[in-house]
Amino acid sequence: MSVLNVERPDFMQDEEIRMFEDSAAKFFQQHAPAERVEKWRKQKCVDREMWNEAGEAGLLGLSTPEEYGGMGGDYRHEVVLMEQLAANGVDGFGASLHNAIVMPYIIHYGTEEQKKRWLPRMATGELVSAIAMTEPGAGSDLQGIKTTAKRAGNGYVINGSKTFITNGQTANLICVVAKTDPTQGAKGVSLVFLETDGAEGFERGRNLKKMGQDAQDTSELFFNDVKIPAENLLGTEEGKGFYQLMGQLPQERLNIAVQAIAAIEKALELTIDYVKQRQAFGKKILDFQNTQFVLAECKTEATVARVFVNHCIGVHLQGKLDPATASMAKYWVSDLEGKIIDRCLQLFGGYGFMDEYPISRMYRDARIQRIYGGTNEIMKLLIARTL
Ligand SMILES: Cc1cc2nc3c(=O)[nH]c(=O)nc-3n(C[C@H](O)[C@H](O)[C@H](O)COP(=O)(O)OP(=O)(O)OC[C@H]3O[C@@H](n4cnc5c(N)ncnc54)[C@H](O)[C@@H]3O)c2cc1C
Repeated sequence: MSVLNVERPDFMQDEEIRMFEDSAAKFFQQHAPAERVEKWRKQKCVDREMWNEAGEAGLLGLSTPEEYGGMGGDYRHEVVLMEQLAANGVDGFGASLHNAIVMPYIIHYGTEEQKKRWLPRMATGELVSAIAMTEPGAGSDLQGIKTTAKRAGNGYVINGSKTFITNGQTANLICVVAKTDPTQGAKGVSLVFLETDGAEGFERGRNLKKMGQDAQDTSELFFNDVKIPAENLLGTEEGKGFYQLMGQLPQERLNIAVQAIAAIEKALELTIDYVKQRQAFGKKILDFQNTQFVLAECKTEATVARVFVNHCIGVHLQGKLDPATASMAKYWVSDLEGKIIDRCLQLFGGYGFMDEYPISRMYRDARIQRIYGGTNEIMKLLIARTL
């Protein structure tokens, strides 16, 4: 049970889910001990082998059907993976983006041939994926993208550039959001997949220096007359990109809420532990009424968030999570993550500012949660549309 004493919902109580949680925890303890994660932070990228190790342990393709090499699980397994990444301090490993963002595009919209071609190799870690939407000139306003995938002979030619792409240095299968018909606005947008191995005209730019998520290889990507076969258009019809993106956004936003509540729980656990040990003025930091009130408030708000996130997971498992509710979860829980981690850090005093204390890193890592996956302002616009 987490520090919050919130009972796990019934749908997370299955024996199989508990066993999976244990095996995921063991995997990270063995394959991502603190020293290895520290090395990833220093090199600003998770070791490539980690993907194969995770694939071998059955942690990739968790909710991908077995017939395509996946584990045949569901969103509960993805939740467990995200929670275990946070609980074990494994920041920067973009497995959830691979599993719970990119693979679902192929599962839901791919042709049979595309599923067979990509999913089994993604499940082993042979293919590491990324999704490239954002460009230097267009983030929130995705209709403003300039990257094109123009029909040429029996394929497409991609031109343009992307930035802030998670797994950008490692990925060898990239889902590129591009305009197949620049005259058509949203209806001219398509998703095309690029297998980067040997792709002429494809270049990786900088592995960007960031204020947090040090082990994550967030990067620039450049496409200069990159040729791909026509079969790499996701699905069979051009111009479906926006529709496909909109269909998957509730899950992507819920992922961020799940990661946020997992980080909050970890922060509270670390802080409660610390204030029980550290002393000042002859007593434990926890014995000051201020500490008790701050942590009582944090625990209360975290409990409200956990109950809401569990509710959203349950609704999503029934296929009924609507975009506005997913946006509420993304914006509210990521805002709360920033607030609670900040208050926790204060209780560590100067040690909270030191890199060697995980709370310091968690504070830096949390900041992006309010920005990516659609900024929290964009979430409020989506919620406001339902008023
Ligand atoms: C670490 C990291 C990882 C990322 N990973 C990926 C990835 O894997 N793939 C990918 O494609 N992208 C990724 N992104 C990009 C991210 O999704 C964008 O940064 C985000 O969508 C915001 O776009 P922008 O940076 O262009 O900001 P802008 O769109 O320029 O927004 C600037 C500000 O204006 C506000 N704003 C914009 N429009 C409105 C409006 N209509 N009303 C009110 N306020 C508004 C925004 O909320 C924001 O505060 C990542 C970014 C980072 C930093």
